Amino acid sequence: MAFDLASGLAQQRAQQLYRTRKIVTTPQGVKLQCDGQAMLSFCSNDYLGLANHPAVIKALQQGAERYGVGSGASHLVTGHSHAHHALEAALAEFTQRPRALLFSSGYMANLGVICALASRQDQIHADRLNHASLIDAARLSGATHRRYPHGDVETLNQRLEKQHNARTFVVTDGVFSMDGEIAPLPPLAATATQQNAMLMVDDAHGIGVIGDGGRGSVAHHHLSVEEVPILVGTLGKALGTFGAFVAGSDDLIETLIQQARTYIYTTALPPAVAHATLTSLELAARDAWRREHLQTLIRRYRSGAQQLGFNIMPSTTPIQPLLIGDAGAALRISEQLQQHGILISAIRPPTVPDNSSRLRITFSANHSEVQVDQLLSALDAVINRNDH
Ligand SMILES: *Cc1c(COP(=O)(O)O)cnc(C)c1O
Repeated sequence: MAFDLASGLAQQRAQQLYRTRKIVTTPQGVKLQCDGQAMLSFCSNDYLGLANHPAVIKALQQGAERYGVGSGASHLVTGHSHAHHALEAALAEFTQRPRALLFSSGYMANLGVICALASRQDQIHADRLNHASLIDAARLSGATHRRYPHGDVETLNQRLEKQHNARTFVVTDGVFSMDGEIAPLPPLAATATQQNAMLMVDDAHGIGVIGDGGRGSVAHHHLSVEEVPILVGTLGKALGTFGAFVAGSDDLIETLIQQARTYIYTTALPPAVAHATLTSLELAARDAWRREHLQTLIRRYRSGAQQLGFNIMPSTTPIQPLLIGDAGAALRISEQLQQHGILISAIRPPTVPDNSSRLRITFSANHSEVQVDQLLSALDAVINRNDH
């Protein structure tokens, strides 16, 4: 080959940053068959345990019978099915926004919305810990991209005060994907409103999990569509299916239909998936016990982890990372946990900042308290007693 890819790979391996995939042969769930081994998983984003829910599976089957498999075209040609349309209406209602627009993934929603609205003469102020798709979107848009220190509304405010000519966006995760922390949305919204900036919240980890009925971190803080004009949510995490949406005003959604390239130039997601998501959205809103049980698991884990002397982070969400620091150490601990039948992936740079590698522990409503105790005892064995 003309390019020496092998030395790049070798370097990545030497830095303990090499990534590999495991082959899962069972449905998504807390018990997985993974590379041939039975595992108790604590690292999926299936927070509500809906990815393998019988009613959602049934809805997917019914959707396939009614609509077939592929959508066959983009939304603007013949791909926009009744199932997509019904889901958009349900998502608008769920998020208490005038309208919602489906995208094929959260990555594409973020790229689509930011590139449709922002261009070279504009400014994007983004939290330093925002998801990679938001960083990529800001870069692709050509706008000036400044990252403010994580959660630092004061610094953001000072930066916003200095410029009034450009069209300005403030962009944040609702719940930070690798930390589990909820963004300071009320002060962010107040600052954005005061400085005439448009606030965009990516609530990939808040939808289904946070707030009354799982309506997400924006609804939890009762922030209106004026305060948070752009709300992004994903369907592949707590809702257990696939896809994403943008919710906001009628003008925002119409603008995206006209301008968002990741909406226009791609095949619509399978209508059966949209049909299945209608069911998972109903379950997410109805089953408050899933969120309550998650809080029980989180409390049990945090108090146990504290007693074991672990460096727990200030998170109230199902994302409960254990900070390790060194990438090699995080990888080793993850491998040793696997020998105890516990699956937790090591999250390393560039997903997280240098020297902040971590075990990204997550909980699902399908975990039991006994399983949390199993996790704690495996962590104790591997981290505290170096037993492997
Ligand atoms: C997962 C994630 C995305 C991407 O969503 P997909 O539907 O998986 O492409 C976007 N933003 C955040 C904060 C995420 O965690």
